Amino acid sequence: MNFLEAKIAAEGYVGQGNILKVDHFLNHQIDVKLIFQIAEEFKRRFDGRRVDKVLTIEASGIAIATLLGHLYGVPVVFAKKGATANCTDDKYMAEAYSFTHKRMNRVFVSKPYLNAGEHVLIVDDFLADGQAASALISLVEQAGGTVSGIGIAIEKGQQQGGQLLRQRGYHLESLAIVRSMDHATQTITFAPQSASH
Ligand code: 5GP
Repeated sequence: MNFLEAKIAAEGYVGQGNILKVDHFLNHQIDVKLIFQIAEEFKRRFDGRRVDKVLTIEASGIAIATLLGHLYGVPVVFAKKGATANCTDDKYMAEAYSFTHKRMNRVFVSKPYLNAGEHVLIVDDFLADGQAASALISLVEQAGGTVSGIGIAIEKGQQQGGQLLRQRGYHLESLAIVRSMDHATQTITFAPQSASH
């Protein structure tokens, strides 16, 4: 097990409805040392890629993105949720269905913060159906930028997001891929990581 898998196994809680709770270290209380390790691991896995900016979505991706932006020495942008439909002139906007909140979120970034020609590394805490990541990709591409890669702390391998993004040809790195989890027994298993990791 790598450091993040070990942390999830020790402190994660399998909630009902296929939700993994990691409030102890990622979604409510933040284990800064662990988030720093996550950021360093992304930096290692995306070695050689051009990164002009790090992009995430509020709220839980911001901690990871901030430390990663610090490692790269580049700005960090977070997409905001909840824009209204009729004020698109100054914003790039996309829609993402929220798996955890069961509602459609409109997410946006104000135009000055994403620019044509920029290479943008997208990061987030979780990947489930890929809605949040796809919305972030759309924002980068609307601006005329290039997605350098997508870094995810925890991918839920039972959901389709990872497969969809890999099929679309994006360089996706997930530090822990949950293969199965069971609320009744509190058992979590992980998919093996490729040999290079
Ligand atoms: P997706 O958009 O890929 O379907 O879901 C990713 C987003 O939903 C993440 O930004 C994360 O906030 C949330 N999410 C999805 N599944 C889980 C989960 O099992 N646990 C937690 N804590 N968040 C989740």
